[in-house]
Amino acid sequence: MAGTMRGAIFVGNGKVEVREFPKPEPKGTEVLVQMKASGLCGSDMHSYRNPPEYWAQASIIRGHEPGGAVAEVGDAVTMVKVGDRVSVYHAPSCGYCEACSRGEFFRCTTIGPGFRLASMKVHGSDADYVLVDQNVCFRIPDELSFEDASTIACAGGTAFQALLKADVHAGEYLLVSGLGPVGLCAVQLGKAMGGKVIGVDPIAFRREFSLQHGADYAIDPSAGNMVEQVKAITGEGAEKAIETSGNDRARVDIVWATPYHARIVYVGYGGEAKNFMLSPNLGDRWIVGSNMFTEPQYHELVRFMVRQGVRFSELVTHRFPLEQAQQAFDAFATRETGKVLFVWE
Ligand SMILES: [Zn+2]
Ligand SMILES: [Zn+2]
Repeated sequence: MAGTMRGAIFVGNGKVEVREFPKPEPKGTEVLVQMKASGLCGSDMHSYRNPPEYWAQASIIRGHEPGGAVAEVGDAVTMVKVGDRVSVYHAPSCGYCEACSRGEFFRCTTIGPGFRLASMKVHGSDADYVLVDQNVCFRIPDELSFEDASTIACAGGTAFQALLKADVHAGEYLLVSGLGPVGLCAVQLGKAMGGKVIGVDPIAFRREFSLQHGADYAIDPSAGNMVEQVKAITGEGAEKAIETSGNDRARVDIVWATPYHARIVYVGYGGEAKNFMLSPNLGDRWIVGSNMFTEPQYHELVRFMVRQGVRFSELVTHRFPLEQAQQAFDAFATRETGKVLFVWE
């Protein structure tokens, strides 16, 4: 069925436009997913302010947190059917290479880098429809909403993998540095895992919001020494810590806000984190990086959410129709939001 659809693109210096694009037609194993919720992610904001010359290279639709319903399928599709409610993993999968066989689709070596949704090569999900392969369409159970499905697709899944690596045990202190979307998901999930959660963020709105969604404490790192503030609560420090801000100072401080046997997981990245240096005297701390999540973790996260009653939709503070794409990105750029989503009726 030919036709057009709307999609939101960046045109440079924080300007966002909604334009008409051809509605894609799925072929072979491709699936056309009709968007019901599409989330804004912190990583979108790395490119939001790029200059017009950058975006003149390609008018690629933004968005990589798709939750929607299967609208059309190619003639070789066997894994989903029209009407299925799905969360779409935002990197492609060949299904066969070593990385894909481990569920690490974002490292697929067959398709290669640069083909994620909303990269410079593939249209994303801030649109009425997104075209993807059946390999990356995961059905969501009735208990979860399209908004949950959307947030699972990037922020929620990323937070979940970081928490699994941190190995949070009930009753342990869990420090979550940075309370943007990934940090807020980590707060909510970490609380449901039994952690005593300490959120850290210089923005008052985010601290207050985290306290309403699972944080037991919220610390302002700009109001005094963060390490001392954490130790005033915990004594020796937080046994588990997740850094989502990418801020150099936060990356170093988080180490000293933990005891010598802690587990520390770094998720955040950003332009400022290049000069990140750690002391060699780390005791027996486990320090690991974490990037996105795997297909097995997707299924584990969905079960966890259903059984533990975690709903990412509770983190949504702003819902916009696609026509208001400019307002949506501008609201998110204030950093005084929880999750910001585009939603469709
Ligand atoms: Zn993302
Ligand atoms: Zn692959």
